Amino acid sequence: MMAHKGMASFPTRADVVIIGGGVVGCAIARELARYSLSVVLLERAPDVAMGTSKANSGILHAGFDADPGTWKARLNVRGAQLYADVSEGLGIPRREIGSLVVARNEADLATLDGLKRRGVENGVTGLEFWSRDQLLSHEPNVSPDVAGALWAPSGAVVCPFLATIGFAENAIRNGVRIVTECAVTGIDVTDGRVAAVVTPLGRIQARYVVNAAGVFSGDVARMAGDDSFTITPRRGEYILFDRSAGSLVNTVLFPTPDKVSKGILVAPTVHGNVFIGPNASEVDDKADHETTGVGLAQIVAGARKIVPALPLPTAITEFAGLRAAAGKDFIIGASPVTRGLVHAAGIQSPGLTSAPAIAEVIVESLREEGLVLSPNPAFVPDNPRRPVFHEAAPTEMADLIAANPLYGRVICRCETITEAEIVAAIRAPCGARTIDGVKRRVRAGSGRCQGGFCGPRVTAILARELGIPVTAVRKDAPDSWLFLPRAALDGIDLPTRETSHA
Ligand SMILES: Cc1cc2nc3c(=O)[nH]c(=O)nc-3n(C[C@H](O)[C@H](O)[C@H](O)COP(=O)(O)OP(=O)(O)OC[C@H]3O[C@@H](n4cnc5c(N)ncnc54)[C@H](O)[C@@H]3O)c2cc1C
Repeated sequence: MMAHKGMASFPTRADVVIIGGGVVGCAIARELARYSLSVVLLERAPDVAMGTSKANSGILHAGFDADPGTWKARLNVRGAQLYADVSEGLGIPRREIGSLVVARNEADLATLDGLKRRGVENGVTGLEFWSRDQLLSHEPNVSPDVAGALWAPSGAVVCPFLATIGFAENAIRNGVRIVTECAVTGIDVTDGRVAAVVTPLGRIQARYVVNAAGVFSGDVARMAGDDSFTITPRRGEYILFDRSAGSLVNTVLFPTPDKVSKGILVAPTVHGNVFIGPNASEVDDKADHETTGVGLAQIVAGARKIVPALPLPTAITEFAGLRAAAGKDFIIGASPVTRGLVHAAGIQSPGLTSAPAIAEVIVESLREEGLVLSPNPAFVPDNPRRPVFHEAAPTEMADLIAANPLYGRVICRCETITEAEIVAAIRAPCGARTIDGVKRRVRAGSGRCQGGFCGPRVTAILARELGIPVTAVRKDAPDSWLFLPRAALDGIDLPTRETSHA
């Protein structure tokens, strides 16, 4: 492990170790921070939100898809309510724009009937059937060849990166330690109970371990002798359009679902882009985030069934995410084999929506496993608000620049992101350490040029703020060096692995 200025020593003991810094692990970390406990979250990537939590549809589902009584059904509805309560305080962008499931024929209309009944049973409110005319007046770009739709006013869109980062930052503010670039390689079990987790940076003694390792959660379970489930990665590909395509649709448009997935949708992002996708293909490799010609053609064909005139020339990027498929429902609760091990595994869609509700159930499971929970009297529920320059009124912009001239330096021209916002994103408790880490936090590089203009400037700011040479700045992944191979960086003090400033 490299030594870094101001870095706290690697923890050797904790009440609870959480494995995985996706939205689920980070939501659990924040929920545990309500109690007087020592909690450590270990993430093998250089940042949180680098697994499935960074590559999904970003939808807070209303909750009519899952079979009543399942974890998915219960936690979707509860999770969506919790986001409504906490998003503003945690700095999570969220817009309640509703969703529509579009029926193209009589058989689809019968499916909508079933969805509505299921939704009512799951506790979803406000569900309504819309006629073809109602649908077309709300969504003029939808194919005229439709039969009607199911309207869910509680459907919303959210920024999945800032959801994860918002939970993580709040957890850190309340005493949780998050250590990135720290892969768990083993779990010590003594007398049938977890005793410690093993990492290349050291061993942490812990009587409770939460497995929130996404597509790797089956492997983590097996480290503790539990082979009760297996995860199969199922890839979904996407195309993202520039914000100039933002008026294409006003709400999330689903086709009627098939047996495997919710189908290929056309939807706005919370930031005003539009995307199409995802498809669903099983892959062998849990790191296979490739997009393919075949897959992209599939999603274009699928999306055109809902919106025929897609603005394909405004496509700015493609990406893919992996569903952690493990059966019909989430795997949540105490391991059937190893005491002290609690799973939040197989968290497919609606996992983003359900994350804060999963966190509540996991904390309850830990209590049932014997963890003593006494309230943390210093718990602070919110994160401080950071100004978003391009959203400010002109007079506020002038005030911001007067208070900090770095607000007057626009670094990302496509999205109008200033140097002050980038610096704040790096200096925050769960601060950015990579170019894409900056992008996920403040959107520098998210626009039409995809970082072609601002990439070198962001690199220079990262180097200055982290106190490292520009040659040591990475794009995103552990080995994504921009200028030199890793070997050439030996002896250079690289950015801290611990995102906590504790
Ligand atoms: C195509 C697609 C579309 C989706 N759309 C939606 C949607 O619109 N709405 C919705 O609610 N849900 C959606 N989902 C589901 C949602 O994205 C996931 O349920 C959620 O992101 C899962 O979060 P997680 O924290 O469990 O996993 P992840 O985000 O994958 O996090 C797991 C983390 O564990 C880390 N890790 C793994 N092994 C180790 C180890 N040994 N040591 C340390 N760290 C480790 C990984 O690096 C990773 O960061 C979608 C999923 C996909 C794939």
